[in-house]
Amino acid sequence: MNCKPLPRRPAPFQDELLSSWLARLADANYCAVPELCRYLGLAQEHPPEMLADLASVDVDRFCTTLRLPSNDLDSMLLKRRKEFAVECVSWSDFQKCRTCTSKQPGISLRHWRFSWSLQCEVCGSELVPLRGDSEGLAQPPSGLRRRAQEGARYLMIAYRQGNVHSGRRMDLTLQVAGVLAPKLRHGAKFSQSRLDRHSILAAINLGMTRPLLAVALVMKNDPRAERRLRATFPHKRKLVDRLASLVGDLPLRSVRIGENHKTRSKKHPTCITSSPKPEYLAAARQAITELGATADGGELLRVAESILQTARR
Ligand SMILES: [Zn+2]
Repeated sequence: MNCKPLPRRPAPFQDELLSSWLARLADANYCAVPELCRYLGLAQEHPPEMLADLASVDVDRFCTTLRLPSNDLDSMLLKRRKEFAVECVSWSDFQKCRTCTSKQPGISLRHWRFSWSLQCEVCGSELVPLRGDSEGLAQPPSGLRRRAQEGARYLMIAYRQGNVHSGRRMDLTLQVAGVLAPKLRHGAKFSQSRLDRHSILAAINLGMTRPLLAVALVMKNDPRAERRLRATFPHKRKLVDRLASLVGDLPLRSVRIGENHKTRSKKHPTCITSSPKPEYLAAARQAITELGATADGGELLRVAESILQTARR
């Protein structure tokens, strides 16, 4: 059995994907990637990214040939949580760090694949879409960026903890966001548009903090939203009924997921852009405080309604 180590071995970078490093190893040793894969005993001709890709491989021999401590192998592979309802790990590169890739062209780090990663963990630079055009690279407004950071944090914690309940709630949030703003479907988490990506992460933040108020505000501004929600979620009839009731109490407000104030006022000059009544916000916040940020949406609405009614007596 051939265990001869490769003659040239550029060291792996911090958090570099195994696939990225193997491509650099192939380049340094003047061979093609499929050729290197065969030499390493891999069944496939593309570099492994997940532990399952190494199922048929003698891992000890693999690590010896690469002069890679077996403990380091695990940290170069991607892992997916099948039980988590929201896909959080991209199947291909979709973003990069300009600073790190300027030092080492073609490099791909593991955390760049995560939907919640907005900054490079190695150098702190902001990550940018891999194939973003000028529109896709446009900087989102600061408020949206702040909410997206919060949503990204919720997503990262829930995924790392394997919190199935939060995952389901985020999945429902993304389904609702996709109905209310069709461009914000699940795939927007890996979008080549910074605006769409920040918008979907901000929607997750809303879904985990004040989901009912957020949906009600969008419904208030879009008369067709209720019909679309009823058609998409026929099993959530009672929840949509409650939302419709809440919408009736809300002041008119032009809110669309992902839009900033400047574009809103240009597109809807006649809309009244007043804030929701403080009592609604206070009731929503109190309900979240009482039940926790991961509580069921229907339950949050029920408690918020009860708080509102008590306050009005
Ligand atoms: Zn970097």
